[in-house]
Amino acid sequence: EPWRDAAGQAILSAGPDPRLAKRAGHKYSHGHALILGGGPGRGGAARLAARAALRIGAGLVSLAVPAESVPENAARLDAIMLEALAEEEDLARRLRDPRITALCLGPGLGLDRAARLVPTALAAKRATVLDADALTAFAEAPERLFGQLHDRVLLTPHDGEFARLFPDLARRLQDAPARGPAYSRLDAARQAAARTGATVLLKGPDTIIAAPDGQAAIAAATGDEAAPWLATAGSGDVLAGLVAGLMGRGFPVPDAARTGAWLHAEAARRFGPGLIAEDLPETLPAVLRDLG
Ligand code: AMP
Ligand code: MG
Repeated sequence: EPWRDAAGQAILSAGPDPRLAKRAGHKYSHGHALILGGGPGRGGAARLAARAALRIGAGLVSLAVPAESVPENAARLDAIMLEALAEEEDLARRLRDPRITALCLGPGLGLDRAARLVPTALAAKRATVLDADALTAFAEAPERLFGQLHDRVLLTPHDGEFARLFPDLARRLQDAPARGPAYSRLDAARQAAARTGATVLLKGPDTIIAAPDGQAAIAAATGDEAAPWLATAGSGDVLAGLVAGLMGRGFPVPDAARTGAWLHAEAARRFGPGLIAEDLPETLPAVLRDLG
């Protein structure tokens, strides 16, 4: 039985999805996720995202990087396809391929590259995850980003990224009294979703997912011993790729976000102490196996 807020709207708790285990057909029927990565020496984050997208069952995953970063990435990838993609025109051309079902921009992308590529990505109206640099690139003028968003976009900010895009909501959160009917992270995420028309996944020890229609879910990690191990470099990058992989498989954006947040935390619980980001994609098979 879901929790309900004051207006009677259900607050779901994040959890597994029956569609996760159902995977039949050939690789082309499971979607193709395109992860955009950055220049030399900053490829790790995007590779983590790509790895998670592949592990969660996207049929094909491609990592697109500038030409000078192809050799460095090629040495570290096998099943993930690699392509050179430098500028907006290359991306626009690439997205004429209707088989690309999901995009992930942000991890390791670099702020300049993000500012140039995000508008082109959004114009293609695909299921799209914007994380990290793809959010921070618009810190100076969030309205510029908001004006381009659509209902198949997921924003995955941590608290710092959220405050850059929604300074007024972050201030309200900061000023909220510790006790009593306080303004909560749930309220803030919902307002952000309503304002932008995108789904918002606000990361933290408890992760909130809020869709523009008011639906919300919580992936709670409070009180969970393993959860703090998620607070480690690259873990958010894995989440971005994981959700992009689910969106690529055809999960609606809010469902992908809700299930992805749960899988991410569940993988951390499974692995336990000593977790580093690389372990998360590798622990997904065990989590999926247990779902039957
Ligand atoms: P990022 O800051 O982008 O690397 O994302 C960090 C990831 O770790 C997000 O999925 C957060 O929800 C999660 N996370 C961060 N701190 C904690 C914590 N103390 N307990 C549980 N999860 C956390
Ligand atoms: Mg991050």
